[in-house]
Formats: sequence, C-alpha cells, structure tokens
Amino acid sequence: MSFNSIRSAPKVEAVETIPEPKPCLYCGAMTAHAVLAMHGARCMRCYNAYLTAPQNWPNTPMDIGKGDRLAWVKRLEYRRDVLGERLNAVQLDAMKRAKGPLLPGPSDDEVPF
Ligand SMILES: [Zn+2]
Repeated sequence: MSFNSIRSAPKVEAVETIPEPKPCLYCGAMTAHAVLAMHGARCMRCYNAYLTAPQNWPNTPMDIGKGDRLAWVKRLEYRRDVLGERLNAVQLDAMKRAKGPLLPGPSDDEVPF
C-alpha cells in the first residue's frame, strides 16, 4: 500500500451508536441500555422495589424504612445508632451521598426504552 493510496482512502467517521434496549434481568421489561447499566440490570420499577426492600440483617427489624427509597440508609443508621455497630467508610460515604440534595431523575412513567 503506497502513501498515496492511504491518503486517498475515504475517511471513516466515528458513529456513536446507542445500544438496543434489553430486557430487565428481573421482570423482562424492555429497558434502555443506559438505565440497565446504571441500576444493576434492573428497570426503574425493579430498581425502586430493590431500594425499598433492603436485605435483612441480624437484630434489625425489617419494617425500618419500609417503602422508602432510602430504607437502606435508615437501616444502616439503626445499626449505627441503636445497635452500636461501627460502619465502614464506604457505608458512611454512601449514606452521606444518599441523603444529599435530591437530583432530578426519571420517574417510572418517563423512562424511555
Ligand atoms: Zn424490571
């Protein structure tokens, strides 16, 4: 291949492609790739359900924060404040960030797919 043939080769422009919607891993609803990537392969409905149903933890009543998107924060606060557990830096940072100013986000109805 000569230098001239390289110079005359047509330019290939980078084209940004948006990945196709994929099914939610938990309910199968077709969901935008960006939403799945941000929420653990969950659609927004499954992600909200995940947030409001945190994992059980010994000596922590399951009704703490029930139905609240920040239930996991309230359960960590209970563990720290009532049970006297020492939380790690990652947990404390996540709690601080979660309780910060709420950023506008899509509701269940607004999520495109
Ligand atoms: Zn789902």
